[in-house]
Amino acid sequence: MRDPINEALWQQMTQDVMTGMREWRLQHPKATLREMEQELDTRLNRMRARMLEDMALASATSDWADCPTGEQPTCTDCGQPLQSRGAETRTLQTQGGQELHLTRQYGTCPACGAGLFPPR
Ligand SMILES: [Zn+2]
Repeated sequence: MRDPINEALWQQMTQDVMTGMREWRLQHPKATLREMEQELDTRLNRMRARMLEDMALASATSDWADCPTGEQPTCTDCGQPLQSRGAETRTLQTQGGQELHLTRQYGTCPACGAGLFPPR
C-alpha cells in the first residue's frame, strides 16, 4: 500500500509557510499584530488540513479486493467481516475552517448493519 504521508512534501509546505510569511512581512511593514496572526493562521490552517488529510488516509484501508481471506476489516461491534461498499468521499471541516476531503473504502456489516470506515 502506498504511504500517503509524504514527508518531503510536508517539509516543503513548512518551508513555504516560513518563506511566505517572511515575504508577506516585508510587503506589509506596518501590519498589526492581529493582521500578522491572521495571515499566519491562514497559512498554518492550510498546511494543517493537508497534514490531517494525509494522516487520515494513512489509516484508511487499502483496496479490500486485495485482502486475503481472514484479513478483511471486521465489524467493531460483532467481529463479522465487512462487505465492501466501494469508496466514499467525505467532506469535513477542520478547526481552522479548511475543508478536508477523505476518500476511503467504506463497508457495512452483514450481521448487524453497522456501516463504517474501518480504522486501519
Ligand atoms: Zn456487526
